[in-house]
Amino acid sequence: RAEIQYYFGAGPAQLPKPVILQLSKDIFNYENQGIGIGEISHRSKTAQGIIEKTKEDILKLLTNNGKYELDQLRKDYDVFFLQGGGTTGFSSIPLNLNNLKGKGGYLISGSWSLKSFQEAKRLGSNVVSLYNDKEENKAFKGCYKGDYSKLIAEQDDLKYVYICENETVNGIEYDATIKDLAHACKQRNVELVADLSSDIFSREIDVYDYGVIMAGAQKNIGIAGLTLYVVKKTLLEEIKDNGVDSQLPIAFDWNLQNDNNSCYNTIPMVPLHTMYLVFEELLASGGIKNQELINIQKSEILYSVLDKYSTESTEVEEKQKIVKFTVKKQFRSKMNVVFNLITPELEEQFAKEAETNGFLAVKGHRSVGGIRVSLYNAVKLEAVESLIKFFEEFVNKL
Ligand code: PMP
Repeated sequence: RAEIQYYFGAGPAQLPKPVILQLSKDIFNYENQGIGIGEISHRSKTAQGIIEKTKEDILKLLTNNGKYELDQLRKDYDVFFLQGGGTTGFSSIPLNLNNLKGKGGYLISGSWSLKSFQEAKRLGSNVVSLYNDKEENKAFKGCYKGDYSKLIAEQDDLKYVYICENETVNGIEYDATIKDLAHACKQRNVELVADLSSDIFSREIDVYDYGVIMAGAQKNIGIAGLTLYVVKKTLLEEIKDNGVDSQLPIAFDWNLQNDNNSCYNTIPMVPLHTMYLVFEELLASGGIKNQELINIQKSEILYSVLDKYSTESTEVEEKQKIVKFTVKKQFRSKMNVVFNLITPELEEQFAKEAETNGFLAVKGHRSVGGIRVSLYNAVKLEAVESLIKFFEEFVNKL
């Protein structure tokens, strides 16, 4: 395929080059078996082996560089996969949790948590909105900033709190205050349920903060077609004891899938194998901590140049002050850098010139407009440095 140097799409996103090269071979002929990975039975020994190794890699990544023992993680959490993406997660979460004693409380900090809440309501699930940033601030600008303990204590029968950790469309990500939320949940025996579709394994995850982690594959961990779930074993047992909602489609039944090694029905092997290759690559290239440091660096250098040319800047000439942010600094996403330029015409011009110069897919989501630069794990520091250079040249021509 033609070499694309700089791809900043929000998802599906670029894969690490060694992964896509290996994948293309394995799709054609997996380990010299004369048949491709998408053509073999998901129940074959080969496929079962890949599923096991992928689950094991996920647990390895969750040990947080030795903070947790692999054996302990195996006892406390289950890992399974369902056909689908983030949106199937929006339905499967309330339906699997519906019969537990207590309701779900949603913290709405952007388009995806809003959509998830709307789906839970549409399904008639027992859920409430605990906070909606758009209602508070007229636009999505960040996450809840108040006292989580108080917010949670105000609800008397809360079973779980739902969040989207990184709002891909709005460029909003939880900062360190997520620890306060996790702590507040633990104090009241409330499970934290999180959509990590667009920031999973971009930084270390403290799995013990969560009851449920749900993530669609097509950003940091692979290609579309699969949803990853990491769920606390005690929660799965509780669901089993209480029975699931009769509306729950059988293919989305967490316990059924988990008990069948994610193979109650046909698991799509190409996305699953892609995930495996991504995890192997991540483990081999320094692990999550190393990746996290690179991601911090990438986002910091980009935000710093955008701040330099922002309408609030004191560093540059008036005509160069072209960048506007809606998102509060505290909640700026490290994965999706979302901003506006002072006019839609300038945004159009920037996106067009960027494309001509080889910087692809920087246009904002159709619902919010502006510019969005996605910096997932596979985007190299060098790509961001080149984009910055291009941006400064663009500004200097104004
Ligand atoms: N959650 C988040 C955070 C997302 O970014 C997306 C998609 N970009 C979704 C959910 C929905 O995922 P899907 O399109 O796979 O249903």
